[in-house]
Amino acid sequence: MTPSERKAARKRCEAATAGPWRAREQGWIWQDGTALRLEGAVAIVTDPDHPSSKLDGNFIAHARTDLPKALKQIDADERLMRDAVAVLVDLGACDDPECREPNCIHFLPRLRTRIGQKQEADDERE
Ligand SMILES: [Zn+2]
Repeated sequence: MTPSERKAARKRCEAATAGPWRAREQGWIWQDGTALRLEGAVAIVTDPDHPSSKLDGNFIAHARTDLPKALKQIDADERLMRDAVAVLVDLGACDDPECREPNCIHFLPRLRTRIGQKQEADDERE
């Protein structure tokens, strides 16, 4: 997931009705803690008789908490990467963030960025 995709996903998470959500009978998605009335539904899977409506409803309900959790984990992983680089620099590793050596600790974040840009370009071509 590219940084711009994460930013857009984060905005959608922040704009949506607060979670957690629960999937209930007939494909209705409810904000947890609200009364089981039609007005309390966050979303309704359009065809409650479809064989996957319960599974799809469950997916939608869990996405409300799963996606923010995944975005938080990505942020934590990036912080860990930055902290690890800072510690390695403190221990004597290369301290030039613009270093172009392919085996340098500063190369990995740039490699990830380049791979992300290539994947975005590939996705746009498809
Ligand atoms: Zn270096």
